Amino acid sequence: MAKVISFQRGLWEQLYVPEIVRGMSVTLKHFLYNTLLRPWKSEICTVRYPEEKRIYPERFRGVHRLMKREDGTVRCVACMMCSTVCPANCIHIEAGEREDETSIEKYPVRFDIDELVCVVCGFCVEACPCDAIRMDGGQHMPPVEHRHEAYFRKDDLLNRGSRGVAVQGGAGPGWRETYQPLGDTRQVYDREGNLGGKIKGS
Ligand code: SF4
Ligand code: SF4
Repeated sequence: MAKVISFQRGLWEQLYVPEIVRGMSVTLKHFLYNTLLRPWKSEICTVRYPEEKRIYPERFRGVHRLMKREDGTVRCVACMMCSTVCPANCIHIEAGEREDETSIEKYPVRFDIDELVCVVCGFCVEACPCDAIRMDGGQHMPPVEHRHEAYFRKDDLLNRGSRGVAVQGGAGPGWRETYQPLGDTRQVYDREGNLGGKIKGS
């Protein structure tokens, strides 16, 4: 049977004020220590975001981007695999027929992602057979003031994209020799979406 230990407050604890003063003195001591001695002996763990950023893991999933072909057109062929696999149902694609003389039949007339509904699972990236959608830009979802600003259109997604490196049918058995790293995933962006800023610890 559990033993019950009761705590009897003495007169000193029942006065409360001395204990409040004692608590505040501990707070004040840490405040002065961390502010006056900073940065030489600081124990503050807070990162001064957005000027400082932590090093992200290599497989960090950031905001979506649509990749481009060599000629600058979107790599997406509107196969709907990403929107089908998406558990949050936040990808909306409208397919159109390509009229130029290529073996590629379709392209996305409309490609929207509702980033506030997205659960950042990365399934869309895994499902895409064309290296057309990625989340590897190292960019966070930017803060928005209005709901519609988090609804990214095709042009927004393409502006974040760059030229894809995937090869139709795969690169073959010697792919390691020709593999180009996707870039420094620790890259950081300022509030305007430009590369820059300082990475804490680098
Ligand atoms: S990361 Fe997941 S939830 Fe977000 S769009 Fe892709 S599949 Fe949908
Ligand atoms: S992004 Fe990839 S998976 Fe999604 S529709 Fe385009 S080609 Fe298909």
